[in-house]
Amino acid sequence: MPPALQANLGRCREILHDTFGFRTFRHLQEEIIAHVVGGHDGLVLMPTGGGKSLCYQIPSMVRPGTGIVISPLIALMEDQVAGLLQMGVKAAFLNSSLPAQETVNVENQLVAGHLDLLYVAPERLLTDRFLHLLEQSTLALFAIDEAHCVSQWGHDFRPEYTRLSILEERFSQVPRLAMTATADMPTRKDIQKHLGLTRARVFATGFDRPNIRYTVIPKNNPHQQLLQFIRNEHSGESGIVYRFSRKKVDQTASWLADKGLKVLPYHAGMDAHTRRTNQDQFMREEGIIMVATVAFGMGVDKADIRFVAHLEPPRSMESYYQETGRAGRDGLPADAWMTYGFGDIVAIRQMVMANTLPQEQRRIQWHKLEALLGFLETASCRRQALLGYFGDAYPEPCGNCDNCLHPLETWDGTIAAQKALSNIFKTGQRFGVGHLTEVLLGNTTQPIIKFGHHKVSTFGIGTELDKRGWASVYRQLASSGSLYVDMEHYGALKLNDASWAILRGQKKVRFRTDPTPPKSSKKTSGS
Ligand code: ADP
Ligand code: ZN
Repeated sequence: MPPALQANLGRCREILHDTFGFRTFRHLQEEIIAHVVGGHDGLVLMPTGGGKSLCYQIPSMVRPGTGIVISPLIALMEDQVAGLLQMGVKAAFLNSSLPAQETVNVENQLVAGHLDLLYVAPERLLTDRFLHLLEQSTLALFAIDEAHCVSQWGHDFRPEYTRLSILEERFSQVPRLAMTATADMPTRKDIQKHLGLTRARVFATGFDRPNIRYTVIPKNNPHQQLLQFIRNEHSGESGIVYRFSRKKVDQTASWLADKGLKVLPYHAGMDAHTRRTNQDQFMREEGIIMVATVAFGMGVDKADIRFVAHLEPPRSMESYYQETGRAGRDGLPADAWMTYGFGDIVAIRQMVMANTLPQEQRRIQWHKLEALLGFLETASCRRQALLGYFGDAYPEPCGNCDNCLHPLETWDGTIAAQKALSNIFKTGQRFGVGHLTEVLLGNTTQPIIKFGHHKVSTFGIGTELDKRGWASVYRQLASSGSLYVDMEHYGALKLNDASWAILRGQKKVRFRTDPTPPKSSKKTSGS
């Protein structure tokens, strides 16, 4: 190593200690920092909470000039800059919330070389005015945060990110460091291609979070299931409960509060002040359960969150990884717990169908949906499935997920599937799971009499299973794509090619045996 670089590294360690108050670098941080201080480009793949910020903050302070940080998260920008200023780092941000006078001030500081770090949103960076300012300034580096936004594969595609290729063209002398917590191969390739980083060194830390135990259970009474999980496993501890909508957040928060739990709600429909207060209280106090939409969590850096619970599946595997990754940052055992049911699968499929994205993006969405459903229904190790999705092979079953701890039984479901599917056909492909199940069980409900379904040949042929059993059969058929849920017709189940293959006996079906739900308040399944 050249002596100058050696000296610089000494300086980096000093900053780590004196400014940030940390004793040692974490895995790969030092290597990345040395690489960037030496003036090279890089791509950093590191899970959320891994410590990406230091990888550009320290080089920005050590190299001459200003480090330009491109981030789409305006709200986080302000927090980060406030934190840096407190530590005595010369940092500033530019975004649309800043008054004109303040903007001019910051711009002058940049050109005068008075800033170590400047945070900007991509749309601001890409203006002619700003690019011109950059050309007049000394630049230490470009840090491109949330770099997966450049990819349509990512969960968060932002078209303006693709225009960041301009950095390579106009500032070829300035090192660029792209960072993301999304590591799947298509995303990685897109980042390299669009940001001109095909020859840049890639730094990837493993994505495994060994202290997190993954559990996914079928939904029957979600609030009750959640309550039992919390009482049995995490009484008095901090946790996050994710719900899909604002309304559901409010419902769950008040339901849990009624049961005497310490809960706070958080969603984008609440006013900014209340949101802030709730977040602060959650961060400060022990043992609060935050019931929230996905609006909560970006930049939440609380080490002792002991569980993250989902009462609906997240939008994608990436979201699942990110959201559950907020648990157990301190390395102590933590739970990622989820419950989901037939209705959820219908809702996710509906969401993908209803979007008006271009063909190519819809195809990607379908692919992602299939991956998510596969993960939910898998009978083998969840960690292997999760990490496999991110291209991070995990050699053995992990021993710390529900399927490893309580291996699932599977059963030959070919006949049950045939009964379930022909029942759909005989009743005219117009009904949902509830009605179809009543027909199989041979119950003379009002609708069954009304539609004459007590006269169809499938009436009463399914008494070997109960309601929950048939719900499980239909859910697994739906999530494996062996039937079609028609959203234009109120979620009516219909047959598709895969269904006919099963009906004709060309395809065998194996179902997993859902764990039996707890009857009393003892023992939650998956515990
Ligand atoms: P990321 O951007 O990868 O999500 P951050 O850079 O926000 O992660 O870092 C996550 C947390 O880890 C922060 O609280 C940060 O202060 C802390 N951290 C980062 N590097 C170190 C280190 N070398 N030693 C101790 N704590 C660190
Ligand atoms: Zn496992």
